[in-house]
Amino acid sequence: MVSNDRILRQLLLAVGGGCLLGCVLASCVVSLFLMQPAILTALANPVGIRTRTPTITWTPTETHTPTATATATLTPTSIFPTRVRTATPAPSVTATSSTPKPKPSETAPPTSTPRPVVQHFLVGRPVAPNAKMIFPDPTYLYGTTEKGDLDVHHGEEFENPIGTSLYAVADGTVVTAGSDMQRICGNDGKGMCGPYITAGKGFYGNLVVIRLAQDYNGVPVFALYGHMNKVFVTAGTAVKKGDLIGEIGMSGIALGPHVHFEIRLGVNDYSHTRNPILWMTPLPGHGSLAGRYTDTEGNLIRGALVDIYRTDNTFLFETETYGRDRWPAVNSDDQLKENFAIGDLPAGDYVVRIAGQPFAVRVSIERGKLSLVEIGGS
Ligand SMILES: [Zn+2]
Repeated sequence: MVSNDRILRQLLLAVGGGCLLGCVLASCVVSLFLMQPAILTALANPVGIRTRTPTITWTPTETHTPTATATATLTPTSIFPTRVRTATPAPSVTATSSTPKPKPSETAPPTSTPRPVVQHFLVGRPVAPNAKMIFPDPTYLYGTTEKGDLDVHHGEEFENPIGTSLYAVADGTVVTAGSDMQRICGNDGKGMCGPYITAGKGFYGNLVVIRLAQDYNGVPVFALYGHMNKVFVTAGTAVKKGDLIGEIGMSGIALGPHVHFEIRLGVNDYSHTRNPILWMTPLPGHGSLAGRYTDTEGNLIRGALVDIYRTDNTFLFETETYGRDRWPAVNSDDQLKENFAIGDLPAGDYVVRIAGQPFAVRVSIERGKLSLVEIGGS
């Protein structure tokens, strides 16, 4: 019996101990389960390490505004309005005669030497002051070729819509009116008006030529209007400055609507043209510029590019010295002997340069006046 009792007691002890141990373990498991979030948080954030709150907020950087940098590009910032060029092309362009290279030994004169400037602004504008374009097209001035693309220009273009009124630029008498498919120019009224006559078109198409009432040094002065749409006058009509004489068109060989305006001196034909800029009163507040670019012998250099800058070196635009082609040559003024001219520059100071050459001349333009620059020479 004693041994049975001992066995029973030991058995009870073992069961009780096992139950106790099991309860402890079970409660541990339950506790662990219940405390899981806290434990995980504690593990993730051990005491002593501060929670890192991201404080970097992304501030968008300032909008990128392109800064305009002033560069002297060859894009005309022109004082002249932008325009679509509709030049008078020739049916075929012959190679412009050679472009003589200036003598490299020349150095630029620091300033121009003023010489007597003979001014003869005898005419106004062929279009009204409120016309769309009252400046001559600066890309195809008298004597220029658009860098060889076109024949040497014997006049100036005022590009305006078809139907724009044309006015007498001075008092005078109409000596030619009609289509130049007939020979109606020349001092006898029997010569060609242009360099040739295109079948069915003529050259200037419908045109008017006015002989000014005022001669110049005893020589007759003529003003020609080409490519007209309508002509309101006839040969023999006396006109006063500002009288309506017709409308702008694109007759003849014009590619687009404009009036081709010429000054002829001495004889009403294609070989007696002069630069209209030198005869046309500058617009209010503006003056005009004539220039001579010559070699060491004093000969005019043809087809050179002339660049006009403001004195702060801002490029304004480019023109050319007079060229020569297969037609009768354009002519310099008898006194000025110029080979380039620019009209309607706002009064002020400018720098004239010859492209690719060291020449640079400063010139002042005065209201209502003509200035002359001389570049190169001896
Ligand atoms: Zn023209």
